[in-house]
Amino acid sequence: MGQCQTCFHFSADPLCEICRDQKRNQGLLCVVADSRDLLALERTREYRGFYHVLGGLISPMDGIGPEVLQISSLVQRVDHDDISEVILALTPSVEGDTTSLYLARLLKPFTKVTRIAYGLPVGSELEYADEVTLTRALEGRRAME
Ligand SMILES: [Zn+2]
Repeated sequence: MGQCQTCFHFSADPLCEICRDQKRNQGLLCVVADSRDLLALERTREYRGFYHVLGGLISPMDGIGPEVLQISSLVQRVDHDDISEVILALTPSVEGDTTSLYLARLLKPFTKVTRIAYGLPVGSELEYADEVTLTRALEGRRAME
């Protein structure tokens, strides 16, 4: 299975089904760590924007720096496309927080950056959250300081 060339979600085609969907809100971009998190958010049927899959989280302990993740492609998208809001939907963990702060600093010159609110214990995985929890997390998102 390949990857979508725009959002890096898994896809057999160069552009995934989500990126081809013209009915979605063009101004909304949700950043997730991996495709499983994207699928969890899709299950809520609450979010109707586009996605960007990072391919992991920044983790200096594991030698994962920003350069191995899809971060420069994200900045390019936000810079070129007319994005009114970037929603960071990353796991509430040390790595998730580090990555969110890093991305907020990079993206704030271009657009509004929000982070989803969690009713989840720290460290719990987004992909295992139920639809109601994720919907609330999306609705309760806040601007990053
Ligand atoms: Zn895509």
